Amino acid sequence: MTQQPLSVGIIGAGATGIAAAWDLANAGHRVTIYEAGAEIGGLAAGFKAPGWDWHLEKFYHHWFETDTDIKAILQEMNLWDNVIFPRPKTSYWIDGKIYRSEISPSAVFLPIGPLATARMGAWGAFLKLKADGLDLEQYTAHEWMLSHMGKAAYDKFFRPLLIGKFGDHYQQVNMAWMWARIRARSLRLGIYKGGFQAALNAMAARVQSAGDVTIHLNTRVERINWADGQPVLETGGGAQRYDRVLSTTSPNLLLKMTGDALADSLYGQQVGALQSIGAVCVVLALDQSLLTDGTYWLNLPATSADKRSNRFPFLALVEHTNWLPRQHYGDDVIVYCGDYVPADHEYFTLSEDELTRRFVDVLHHFNADFRPSWIKRSWVFRAPYAQPVPGVNHSKNIPPLKTPMPGVYWASMSQVYPWDRGTNFAVEMGRRVAGQIMAE
Ligand SMILES: Cc1cc2nc3c(=O)[nH]c(=O)nc-3n(C[C@H](O)[C@H](O)[C@H](O)COP(=O)(O)OP(=O)(O)OC[C@H]3O[C@@H](n4cnc5c(N)ncnc54)[C@H](O)[C@@H]3O)c2cc1C
Repeated sequence: MTQQPLSVGIIGAGATGIAAAWDLANAGHRVTIYEAGAEIGGLAAGFKAPGWDWHLEKFYHHWFETDTDIKAILQEMNLWDNVIFPRPKTSYWIDGKIYRSEISPSAVFLPIGPLATARMGAWGAFLKLKADGLDLEQYTAHEWMLSHMGKAAYDKFFRPLLIGKFGDHYQQVNMAWMWARIRARSLRLGIYKGGFQAALNAMAARVQSAGDVTIHLNTRVERINWADGQPVLETGGGAQRYDRVLSTTSPNLLLKMTGDALADSLYGQQVGALQSIGAVCVVLALDQSLLTDGTYWLNLPATSADKRSNRFPFLALVEHTNWLPRQHYGDDVIVYCGDYVPADHEYFTLSEDELTRRFVDVLHHFNADFRPSWIKRSWVFRAPYAQPVPGVNHSKNIPPLKTPMPGVYWASMSQVYPWDRGTNFAVEMGRRVAGQIMAE
């Protein structure tokens, strides 16, 4: 190393923070990570119930075969051999029936007719093969998909997907986001043996053995301040000065921690204008299979941005153990009922019992034999910042990784673009910001 070692304080031990720490530690810098939660992993963290040998993600998670950045870092850490890529079945629920989502001989029987199916297939192939889709950001996904895929395909497949994921914002999302989503998908889906929590724990252990890295769990940074020309991190336990600070938190939390220092700046206004939506997951451990056709991921139709007028109160029904063997989870069948809603939606304030009851109430539609007595255990997870909403020409609205506060950097899901947020892109961004910190 030609440079003097820097002391770097990182806020957040999610994939971004861990990846940044890896490059900083390998270059000889001193890294301290502060994590408000009780474990490593952030949104990708998992939990283990008694009798399980694998962690289960609080929110469904998988990697695509196109995720090259997570592959590269796991290879560098000698951990890639622990990743497996089973091929699950993903499907749509349309007019009371389950349809496989990938192109297959049965695709000609889609409920939109062969011509509309062929048109949708042709434009789908165009998007899949298009190497760079950033130019599509000038259109909304709503207008582009409607005019290219046709009304039948849009109404049956893409409008429900957009509404389900973005609610009221569904007509604002740009077409580059939709392109990236289609481009990145793969049929086989990857997971680390033991779950994402095991991956992030193993990565954190490698980061700690690579150099001078300390991780403080259960330690919330309250404020990013300034003293003698250097950033200072304030926690309940005191204040610590660093040469550089990296925050990997949501836009709101960044603004809260920096207070007046950023709020009135152009940068602060840009951060404040970023839009996002939250996520909720009810996780059920059942004693028998719900989706007996073997479907892992079932997309449910959302016809109205007002979730209450939809037939189903959530967007995705995911039978995790139709992808991974239930033996890893003490022979439990694991089912996620997941939805995306704004952070002020009632799903964030309803009691866990009430939310679970509302979701469980519709499960008999997918299996007439289902009885609530099948449920052995259940959990509720909620994340108010879960999915950025990229509007038209979004690339011009993304705040840079370097903030106007000297020595302070910010890298979050809101700066991942046009790709949909994911641990792969968190790793890419974490390493990019580490490079920038070291270069400056
Ligand atoms: C429903 C859902 C499904 C997803 N599906 C997938 C998927 O299939 N595949 C995939 O790869 N990705 C998926 N993702 C996205 C993935 O989880 C994120 O992209 C990734 O975890 C982001 O990592 P991060 O480090 O940037 O942020 P985070 O994981 O949010 O980490 C930030 C960390 O900062 C901590 N923190 C916040 N404030 C403070 C503070 N003041 N002091 C100290 N610490 C603080 C938080 O506790 C958190 O641990 C999904 C996300 C959701 C919500």
